[in-house]
Amino acid sequence: MDRQKYQELMGTFFEWNQPELVKIFSELLASAAAEEALTPAQIMSQNYETARANPEIHSIPGNLKDARDAIFPYFWGTDSWNNPLHLENVRGPANQASLIGAIACLLKNPNLCTDRYSQRSNELEVKAITALANLIYYHTIDPWGVFTIGGTISNLYGAKIGIERVLPGAMQVGINGRRVAGICSQAGHYSNQTVAGWLGIGTSNLIEIPTDANLSMRIDLLEETLHRLYREKTKVAYICATFGTTDGFGIDDVRAIRECAERISQEYGETMPQIHCDAAVGWTMSVLTDYDRKSNPLKFEPKLLGMIEKAQALNVGLRYADSVTIDFHKFGRGHYPSSAFIVNRREDLKYLARTVSDTPYFSDADASRDPALLTLECSRPAIGPYSVIASLNGIGLAGWQMLVARSLELAQRLKERLAKIEYCKVLNSEIISPSVNWWVLPKGRNAQEIFDRLVRNELSSEQIQRYSKEIRHLFDKRLKTMDAAVDARLGFTTSFGYCPNGVDIPAWKAVFFNPRTTDEIVDRMITSIEEL
Ligand SMILES: *Cc1c(COP(=O)(O)O)cnc(C)c1O
Repeated sequence: MDRQKYQELMGTFFEWNQPELVKIFSELLASAAAEEALTPAQIMSQNYETARANPEIHSIPGNLKDARDAIFPYFWGTDSWNNPLHLENVRGPANQASLIGAIACLLKNPNLCTDRYSQRSNELEVKAITALANLIYYHTIDPWGVFTIGGTISNLYGAKIGIERVLPGAMQVGINGRRVAGICSQAGHYSNQTVAGWLGIGTSNLIEIPTDANLSMRIDLLEETLHRLYREKTKVAYICATFGTTDGFGIDDVRAIRECAERISQEYGETMPQIHCDAAVGWTMSVLTDYDRKSNPLKFEPKLLGMIEKAQALNVGLRYADSVTIDFHKFGRGHYPSSAFIVNRREDLKYLARTVSDTPYFSDADASRDPALLTLECSRPAIGPYSVIASLNGIGLAGWQMLVARSLELAQRLKERLAKIEYCKVLNSEIISPSVNWWVLPKGRNAQEIFDRLVRNELSSEQIQRYSKEIRHLFDKRLKTMDAAVDARLGFTTSFGYCPNGVDIPAWKAVFFNPRTTDEIVDRMITSIEEL
């Protein structure tokens, strides 16, 4: 081997060349900043045509600038969500404290599988999980948990514990043809389907309970369903309650769900199902739990204080969950992947435990500490703990309270303005939420009346189809005619979660996760609707 070339290669790619790294980071930062001047419309179109034809591997060693150049076209002008006009979905801009945390993490590149591969990063994970658990469970005694690569996987952990509860040893012998069911609401996230499919209980054994108009699981129907399932000798492994549905921010009554499951499982002599709470989006409301509305240190307006009071009452529900999913990369404005799966009682992790002999190359693993003995993943990124701890402490609880309050305020402003337009109808008006779901119908229609008739089952299927088409058509029309420099980019859902008489209700959607979105942007949305 040419030793000289080898030395150069090592020097370029395996030593810290600080000036060179700083220069390239600055260039990337500068181009990200320059992008702020652009509109959030898709700036550079994708080139899938030749993506496969030209996979591109350079033939001779280059330098760090080659690395920069290789990714730059895909970095520039593509998917910056920092723009305050982005309101499509539960994705906001990541905050800069999280960026510091995430970069620190990348520099050390720890692997959270065991202590040996991560040193103090595992300690940071324990800290981050406990900090989040204290927000959710409100100063609980013995919580534990792990970071995962997303809400889907965190939900999977909850469901898996449930299966092990009702069929002990399923990890070893499988479910052996037993019918096992999971339960969530009709407004629950589609990851519930993913989980039921991937865990082998089957998507057809995921029972979706209809919600009331406020997107909250109907407890009367849950009760009926549990009776039916137990009569049919089905094992009910878990109930996944949702705290903040993805579209309309509906919140299930976790306490009522727990009481119902406890009572009925006992009646049939069955094992209590796991009560998991998918708070992927909604967990962030728990930063409001401790806000002192009397002294009101952040000078929130009376209307906002009213919303906070309601949010505080809802937050109490989280304490009734055995386990919780938290996505820090959504309403937490953290970097991907930052999802946490948290149990209220650490002993519940025994359902996931493997022995050291199951994980031979972690033979030195310590069962009391090393997560690899219970996680689905082997190698596990540490972005989550770094993002969470940097963000929570950089921004501080009062900072978080302002951020969440501002989201609620912007959503409320939009709801109130839409409520004054007779051909519009806000669908989640009674929900304290950072998101708004609504209808826009052609001028001249009375949206409220049409909605009421839909709920009362007085519309023919032709009428339902026609109105749904109109709602979609007007959304597409705005998309075509809007001015990308001033008009917010909105989302559309074909079913926001409440399905009276089994009918899916489409909706326009706006999610206020971007702290830089202004009142003027909301007002301009109204104008753009009036101009359609
Ligand atoms: C986004 C979301 C999920 C899935 O989370 P990922 O991090 O995207 O895997 C699950 N549940 C709810 C309520 C969500 O909004």
